[in-house]
This record gives sequence, C-alpha cells and structure tokens, in this order.
Amino acid sequence: MESKCPICKKPTVHEFRPFCSKRCAQIDLGHWFRGDYKIEGEEEVKDEEGVDEEKE
Ligand SMILES: [Zn+2]
Repeated sequence: MESKCPICKKPTVHEFRPFCSKRCAQIDLGHWFRGDYKIEGEEEVKDEEGVDEEKE
C-alpha cells in the first residue's frame, strides 16, 4: 500500500511525507496555522477587505 498526499491525493514522496511535495506540506501548514492552531492569548485578528484568496 502506498500513502497518498492528504492535500492532493498524489502518491507520497518520502522526502515530504506525508505529502507529495513541499508545496503540499506548506499548504497543510497554512491550514494548520489558520485553523486549528489556536493560541491562548490575544492575537490581533486582521480581517480586512481586499482579501483575494478565495477566487476560483
Ligand atoms: Zn500533494
């Protein structure tokens, strides 16, 4: 059985396990920081207009 990248489902590359590439590893890290990674304490939340990362 071979592992698959949780981001794009391509076969895992050993060097970047459990991902297929550095790019996917960074994408996952990005989710982590934005989502589940919650620090106790104050953090300035910036929610400006002009965010254009949800274009499809
Ligand atoms: Zn991938």
